[in-house]
Amino acid sequence: MGIPTVAVISMGGTISCAPGDDGRALVPRTDAADVISGDSVDGVEVRSVQWSLSDSSEITFNELIRLAREIRRQAADGADAVVVTQGTDSLEESAYALSLLRPLDRPVVCTGAMRAPTAPGSDAASNLRAAIATALHPELAQSSAGAVVVMNDEIHSAKWVQKHHTQRVDAFTSTDRGPLGVLYEGRPRFLRQDPPPSLPALLDRETGRHVRVALLTAVLDQDTALIEAVARSGYHGLVIEGMGGGHVSGVVARALGALARDIPVVYASRSRAGAVLERTYGSPGAELDLIDRGAVPAGELPALKARVLLTMLLRSGFSRREAEALLRREAHAGTR
Ligand code: GLU
Repeated sequence: MGIPTVAVISMGGTISCAPGDDGRALVPRTDAADVISGDSVDGVEVRSVQWSLSDSSEITFNELIRLAREIRRQAADGADAVVVTQGTDSLEESAYALSLLRPLDRPVVCTGAMRAPTAPGSDAASNLRAAIATALHPELAQSSAGAVVVMNDEIHSAKWVQKHHTQRVDAFTSTDRGPLGVLYEGRPRFLRQDPPPSLPALLDRETGRHVRVALLTAVLDQDTALIEAVARSGYHGLVIEGMGGGHVSGVVARALGALARDIPVVYASRSRAGAVLERTYGSPGAELDLIDRGAVPAGELPALKARVLLTMLLRSGFSRREAEALLRREAHAGTR
Protein backbone atom coordinates (compact mmCIF):
# COMPACT_ATOMS: atom_id res chain seq x y z
CA MET A 1 0.00 0.00 0.00
CA GLY A 2 1.22 3.49 -0.88
CA ILE A 3 1.20 6.53 1.34
CA PRO A 4 -2.37 7.73 2.06
CA THR A 5 -3.38 11.06 0.57
CA VAL A 6 -5.53 13.60 2.41
CA ALA A 7 -6.95 16.54 0.48
CA VAL A 8 -7.07 19.64 2.70
CA ILE A 9 -9.55 22.09 1.21
CA SER A 10 -8.97 25.52 2.63
CA MET A 11 -11.82 28.06 2.92
CA GLY A 12 -10.27 30.89 4.92
CA GLY A 13 -11.10 31.79 8.53
CA THR A 14 -8.70 32.16 11.44
CA ILE A 15 -6.76 29.01 10.55
CA SER A 16 -5.75 30.82 7.32
CA CYS A 17 -5.23 34.23 8.91
CA ALA A 18 -2.13 36.39 9.09
CA PRO A 19 -1.72 40.09 9.85
CA GLY A 20 -3.03 42.16 6.93
CA ASP A 21 -1.27 45.02 5.18
CA ASP A 22 -1.82 47.33 8.16
CA GLY A 23 0.24 44.80 10.16
CA ARG A 24 -2.39 44.60 12.89
CA ALA A 25 -5.81 43.19 12.00
CA LEU A 26 -5.97 39.54 10.93
CA VAL A 27 -7.29 38.59 7.49
CA PRO A 28 -7.39 35.20 5.70
CA ARG A 29 -4.25 35.04 3.51
CA THR A 30 -2.85 31.54 3.34
CA ASP A 31 -3.82 27.92 2.71
CA ALA A 32 -4.59 26.14 5.94
CA ALA A 33 -2.16 23.38 4.94
CA ASP A 34 0.65 25.99 5.22
CA VAL A 35 0.36 25.78 9.01
CA ILE A 36 1.83 22.30 8.90
CA SER A 37 4.12 22.66 5.91
CA GLY A 38 7.68 21.99 6.91
CA ASP A 39 6.43 19.71 9.70
CA SER A 40 6.23 16.06 8.88
CA VAL A 41 2.78 14.52 9.04
CA ASP A 42 3.91 10.93 9.47
CA GLY A 43 3.37 8.86 6.36
CA VAL A 44 0.67 11.10 4.86
CA GLU A 45 0.66 13.03 1.63
CA VAL A 46 -1.20 16.28 2.21
CA ARG A 47 -2.77 17.65 -0.98
CA SER A 48 -3.50 21.32 -0.41
CA VAL A 49 -6.51 22.75 -2.27
CA GLN A 50 -7.17 26.49 -1.98
CA TRP A 51 -10.90 27.02 -2.24
CA SER A 52 -11.36 30.55 -0.90
CA LEU A 53 -9.86 33.13 1.41
CA SER A 54 -12.89 34.51 3.18
CA ASP A 55 -14.58 34.82 6.54
CA SER A 56 -17.01 32.02 7.24
CA SER A 57 -19.90 34.51 7.40
CA GLU A 58 -19.60 34.70 3.57
CA ILE A 59 -20.37 31.00 2.99
CA THR A 60 -23.60 30.24 1.09
CA PHE A 61 -25.60 27.05 0.52
CA ASN A 62 -24.75 27.21 -3.18
CA GLU A 63 -21.07 27.33 -2.27
CA LEU A 64 -21.47 24.30 0.00
CA ILE A 65 -23.06 22.34 -2.86
CA ARG A 66 -20.08 23.22 -5.09
CA LEU A 67 -17.73 22.30 -2.25
CA ALA A 68 -19.42 18.91 -1.80
CA ARG A 69 -18.91 18.24 -5.52
CA GLU A 70 -15.25 19.22 -5.20
CA ILE A 71 -14.91 16.83 -2.25
CA ARG A 72 -16.22 14.03 -4.48
CA ARG A 73 -13.83 15.07 -7.22
CA GLN A 74 -10.87 14.95 -4.82
CA ALA A 75 -11.84 11.42 -3.75
CA ALA A 76 -12.26 10.37 -7.40
CA ASP A 77 -8.80 11.84 -7.97
CA GLY A 78 -7.23 9.50 -5.44
CA ALA A 79 -7.65 11.29 -2.08
CA ASP A 80 -8.26 8.71 0.65
CA ALA A 81 -9.91 11.29 2.89
CA VAL A 82 -10.90 14.97 2.80
CA VAL A 83 -10.44 17.67 5.43
CA VAL A 84 -12.16 21.05 5.07
CA THR A 85 -10.85 24.07 6.96
CA GLN A 86 -12.89 27.22 7.48
CA GLY A 87 -13.68 30.01 9.91
CA THR A 88 -15.19 28.73 13.11
CA ASP A 89 -18.02 31.27 13.24
CA SER A 90 -20.34 29.30 10.94
CA LEU A 91 -18.62 25.90 11.22
CA GLU A 92 -21.56 24.33 13.07
CA GLU A 93 -23.86 25.19 10.13
CA SER A 94 -21.67 24.34 7.15
CA ALA A 95 -20.42 21.08 8.69
CA TYR A 96 -24.03 19.97 9.20
CA ALA A 97 -24.90 20.95 5.61
CA LEU A 98 -21.94 18.85 4.39
CA SER A 99 -23.08 16.03 6.63
CA LEU A 100 -26.54 16.07 5.03
CA LEU A 101 -25.06 16.28 1.53
CA ARG A 102 -22.84 13.28 2.39
CA PRO A 103 -20.53 13.55 -0.62
CA LEU A 104 -18.39 10.54 0.41
CA ASP A 105 -19.00 7.12 1.89
CA ARG A 106 -16.80 8.15 4.82
CA PRO A 107 -17.19 11.36 6.83
CA VAL A 108 -15.65 14.61 5.69
CA VAL A 109 -13.60 16.11 8.53
CA CYS A 110 -14.07 19.83 9.21
CA THR A 111 -11.80 21.94 11.36
CA GLY A 112 -10.63 25.49 11.99
CA ALA A 113 -8.78 27.43 14.66
CA MET A 114 -9.71 29.76 17.46
CA ARG A 115 -6.21 31.35 17.53
CA ALA A 116 -4.48 32.37 14.31
CA PRO A 117 -1.26 30.55 13.31
CA THR A 118 0.75 33.64 14.34
CA ALA A 119 -0.93 33.96 17.79
CA PRO A 120 0.70 32.63 20.97
CA GLY A 121 -0.67 29.20 21.79
CA SER A 122 -2.29 28.84 18.37
CA ASP A 123 -4.48 25.75 17.87
CA ALA A 124 -4.20 25.97 14.05
CA ALA A 125 -1.52 23.31 13.47
CA SER A 126 -2.73 21.02 16.26
CA ASN A 127 -6.33 21.08 14.99
CA LEU A 128 -5.26 20.41 11.41
CA ARG A 129 -2.99 17.54 12.42
CA ALA A 130 -5.77 16.07 14.57
CA ALA A 131 -8.23 16.44 11.67
CA ILE A 132 -5.87 14.62 9.29
CA ALA A 133 -5.27 11.80 11.79
CA THR A 134 -9.03 11.47 12.32
CA ALA A 135 -9.79 11.57 8.59
CA LEU A 136 -7.50 8.58 7.99
CA HIS A 137 -8.54 6.55 11.01
CA PRO A 138 -10.20 3.26 9.96
CA GLU A 139 -12.92 3.60 12.60
CA LEU A 140 -14.06 6.89 11.12
CA ALA A 141 -15.07 5.04 7.98
CA GLN A 142 -17.56 3.14 10.15
CA SER A 143 -19.15 6.34 11.40
CA SER A 144 -22.49 7.08 9.80
CA ALA A 145 -21.94 10.84 10.16
CA GLY A 146 -21.59 12.58 6.80
CA ALA A 147 -19.20 15.02 8.42
CA VAL A 148 -17.45 15.41 11.76
CA VAL A 149 -15.83 18.43 13.38
CA VAL A 150 -12.42 18.05 15.01
CA MET A 151 -11.45 20.86 17.39
CA ASN A 152 -9.38 20.92 20.57
CA ASP A 153 -8.63 17.17 20.42
CA GLU A 154 -12.33 16.26 20.29
CA ILE A 155 -14.24 14.62 17.42
CA HIS A 156 -17.84 15.84 17.20
CA SER A 157 -20.77 14.79 15.07
CA ALA A 158 -21.55 17.69 12.72
CA LYS A 159 -25.21 17.27 13.62
CA TRP A 160 -24.80 18.10 17.28
CA VAL A 161 -21.72 20.30 17.58
CA GLN A 162 -22.21 23.96 18.49
CA LYS A 163 -19.88 26.90 18.95
CA HIS A 164 -20.63 28.01 22.47
CA HIS A 165 -17.77 30.41 23.20
CA THR A 166 -16.48 33.40 21.26
CA GLN A 167 -12.77 32.99 21.98
CA ARG A 168 -11.64 29.93 23.87
CA VAL A 169 -9.96 26.95 22.17
CA ASP A 170 -12.60 24.70 23.77
CA ALA A 171 -15.35 26.67 22.00
CA PHE A 172 -17.05 23.59 20.50
CA THR A 173 -19.34 21.24 22.38
CA SER A 174 -22.05 18.67 21.64
CA THR A 175 -24.00 19.42 24.87
CA ASP A 176 -25.89 16.31 26.10
CA ARG A 177 -24.37 13.99 23.46
CA GLY A 178 -20.73 14.69 24.12
CA PRO A 179 -18.05 14.10 21.50
CA LEU A 180 -17.94 11.02 19.25
CA GLY A 181 -14.32 10.62 20.16
CA VAL A 182 -11.16 12.26 21.46
CA LEU A 183 -7.51 12.35 20.46
CA TYR A 184 -4.93 11.01 22.87
CA GLU A 185 -1.25 11.54 21.96
CA GLY A 186 -2.40 12.58 18.50
CA ARG A 187 -4.37 9.36 17.94
CA PRO A 188 -8.16 9.26 17.55
CA ARG A 189 -10.10 7.16 20.04
CA PHE A 190 -13.78 6.68 19.31
CA LEU A 191 -16.19 6.66 22.26
CA ARG A 192 -19.49 5.94 20.54
CA GLN A 193 -21.18 5.72 17.15
CA ASP A 194 -23.99 7.84 15.81
CA PRO A 195 -27.08 5.99 14.61
CA PRO A 196 -27.33 5.35 10.85
CA PRO A 197 -28.33 8.39 8.76
CA SER A 198 -32.06 9.00 8.66
CA LEU A 199 -31.87 10.67 5.23
CA PRO A 200 -30.46 9.82 1.80
CA ALA A 201 -27.33 11.69 0.69
CA LEU A 202 -28.88 15.03 -0.26
CA LEU A 203 -26.13 15.87 -2.78
CA ASP A 204 -27.68 13.22 -5.04
CA ARG A 205 -31.06 15.00 -4.88
CA GLU A 206 -29.80 18.58 -5.18
CA THR A 207 -32.05 20.63 -7.47
CA GLY A 208 -30.32 24.02 -7.42
CA ARG A 209 -33.54 25.57 -6.07
CA HIS A 210 -32.79 28.76 -4.13
CA VAL A 211 -34.46 28.26 -0.74
CA ARG A 212 -34.64 30.90 1.97
CA VAL A 213 -35.50 29.91 5.54
CA ALA A 214 -35.73 32.67 8.13
CA LEU A 215 -34.67 32.33 11.77
CA LEU A 216 -36.20 34.45 14.53
CA THR A 217 -35.77 34.35 18.30
CA ALA A 218 -38.65 34.62 20.76
CA VAL A 219 -38.09 37.49 23.22
CA LEU A 220 -39.90 39.23 26.01
CA ASP A 221 -42.65 41.66 24.93
CA GLN A 222 -42.42 40.61 21.27
CA ASP A 223 -44.60 42.01 18.52
CA THR A 224 -45.41 40.20 15.29
CA ALA A 225 -43.98 42.68 12.76
CA LEU A 226 -40.99 40.49 11.83
CA ILE A 227 -43.15 37.37 11.46
CA GLU A 228 -45.47 39.29 9.16
CA ALA A 229 -42.43 40.52 7.23
CA VAL A 230 -41.36 36.88 6.76
CA ALA A 231 -44.80 36.14 5.29
CA ARG A 232 -44.50 39.05 2.85
CA SER A 233 -40.87 38.47 1.87
CA GLY A 234 -41.09 35.21 -0.02
CA TYR A 235 -39.34 33.00 2.53
CA HIS A 236 -39.90 29.26 2.13
CA GLY A 237 -39.86 28.46 5.84
CA LEU A 238 -39.29 29.86 9.32
CA VAL A 239 -37.49 28.50 12.34
CA ILE A 240 -38.52 30.14 15.60
CA GLU A 241 -36.07 29.84 18.46
CA GLY A 242 -38.60 29.72 21.28
CA MET A 243 -38.08 30.27 25.00
CA GLY A 244 -37.09 27.26 27.13
CA GLY A 245 -39.09 24.28 25.89
CA GLY A 246 -39.80 26.16 22.63
CA HIS A 247 -42.42 28.62 23.85
CA VAL A 248 -43.66 31.96 22.53
CA SER A 249 -46.39 34.37 23.63
CA GLY A 250 -50.01 33.85 22.59
CA VAL A 251 -49.81 36.80 20.19
CA VAL A 252 -46.69 35.41 18.50
CA ALA A 253 -48.26 31.92 18.35
CA ARG A 254 -51.24 33.30 16.43
CA ALA A 255 -48.92 34.97 13.89
CA LEU A 256 -46.90 31.75 13.57
CA GLY A 257 -50.10 29.77 13.02
CA ALA A 258 -51.13 32.13 10.22
CA LEU A 259 -47.68 31.73 8.64
CA ALA A 260 -47.79 27.93 8.99
CA ARG A 261 -50.82 27.87 6.70
CA ASP A 262 -48.43 28.88 3.88
CA ILE A 263 -44.92 27.70 4.76
CA PRO A 264 -43.28 25.27 7.22
CA VAL A 265 -42.73 26.70 10.71
CA VAL A 266 -40.33 24.83 12.98
CA TYR A 267 -39.87 25.56 16.68
CA ALA A 268 -36.51 25.05 18.44
CA SER A 269 -35.22 26.43 21.74
CA ARG A 270 -33.11 29.46 22.45
CA SER A 271 -31.69 27.47 25.40
CA ARG A 272 -29.65 25.56 22.77
CA ALA A 273 -29.45 22.38 24.84
CA GLY A 274 -32.08 19.71 25.38
CA ALA A 275 -35.11 18.72 23.30
CA VAL A 276 -38.06 21.08 22.84
CA LEU A 277 -41.23 20.00 24.61
CA GLU A 278 -44.05 18.31 22.68
CA ARG A 279 -46.62 17.17 25.24
CA THR A 280 -46.49 19.11 28.48
CA TYR A 281 -47.85 22.68 28.39
CA GLY A 282 -51.13 23.85 26.94
CA SER A 283 -51.17 27.65 27.43
CA PRO A 284 -51.41 29.94 24.39
CA GLY A 285 -47.94 29.91 22.77
CA ALA A 286 -46.83 26.74 24.58
CA GLU A 287 -45.83 23.69 22.58
CA LEU A 288 -49.26 22.03 22.36
CA ASP A 289 -50.73 25.27 21.01
CA LEU A 290 -47.87 25.65 18.50
CA ILE A 291 -48.29 22.07 17.30
CA ASP A 292 -52.07 22.58 16.94
CA ARG A 293 -51.32 25.61 14.80
CA GLY A 294 -49.10 23.57 12.47
CA ALA A 295 -45.60 24.16 13.87
CA VAL A 296 -43.13 21.27 13.80
CA PRO A 297 -40.88 20.49 16.80
CA ALA A 298 -37.11 20.50 16.14
CA GLY A 299 -36.46 17.85 18.80
CA GLU A 300 -32.93 18.28 20.11
CA LEU A 301 -31.78 20.17 17.03
CA PRO A 302 -30.70 23.72 17.82
CA ALA A 303 -32.34 26.38 15.66
CA LEU A 304 -29.24 26.85 13.47
CA LYS A 305 -29.23 23.14 12.60
CA ALA A 306 -32.99 23.06 12.06
CA ARG A 307 -32.67 25.95 9.59
CA VAL A 308 -29.89 24.15 7.67
CA LEU A 309 -31.94 20.94 7.63
CA LEU A 310 -35.17 22.57 6.42
CA THR A 311 -33.27 24.50 3.74
CA MET A 312 -31.47 21.40 2.48
CA LEU A 313 -34.66 19.30 2.45
CA LEU A 314 -36.59 21.93 0.48
CA ARG A 315 -33.66 22.31 -1.93
CA SER A 316 -33.71 18.54 -2.44
CA GLY A 317 -37.12 18.53 -4.10
CA PHE A 318 -39.16 17.16 -1.19
CA SER A 319 -42.67 18.56 -0.86
CA ARG A 320 -43.54 20.57 2.22
CA ARG A 321 -45.24 17.58 3.89
CA GLU A 322 -42.33 15.25 3.05
CA ALA A 323 -39.80 17.81 4.29
CA GLU A 324 -41.67 18.24 7.58
CA ALA A 325 -41.88 14.47 8.10
CA LEU A 326 -38.19 14.00 7.27
CA LEU A 327 -37.24 16.89 9.54
CA ARG A 328 -39.12 15.26 12.43
CA ARG A 329 -37.38 11.96 11.73
CA GLU A 330 -33.89 13.49 11.53
CA ALA A 331 -34.56 15.66 14.61
CA HIS A 332 -35.51 12.62 16.66
CA ALA A 333 -33.07 10.11 15.13
CA GLY A 334 -30.81 8.59 17.73
CA THR A 335 -33.08 9.36 20.69
CA ARG A 336 -34.13 6.02 22.12
N1 GLU B 1 -14.19 35.67 11.05
C1 GLU B 1 -13.60 34.41 11.22
C2 GLU B 1 -14.44 33.36 10.53
O1 GLU B 1 -14.20 33.21 9.37
C3 GLU B 1 -13.10 34.22 12.55
C4 GLU B 1 -13.51 33.05 13.33
C5 GLU B 1 -12.60 31.88 13.27
O2 GLU B 1 -12.18 31.42 12.24
O3 GLU B 1 -12.34 31.38 14.36
O4 GLU B 1 -15.34 32.71 11.01
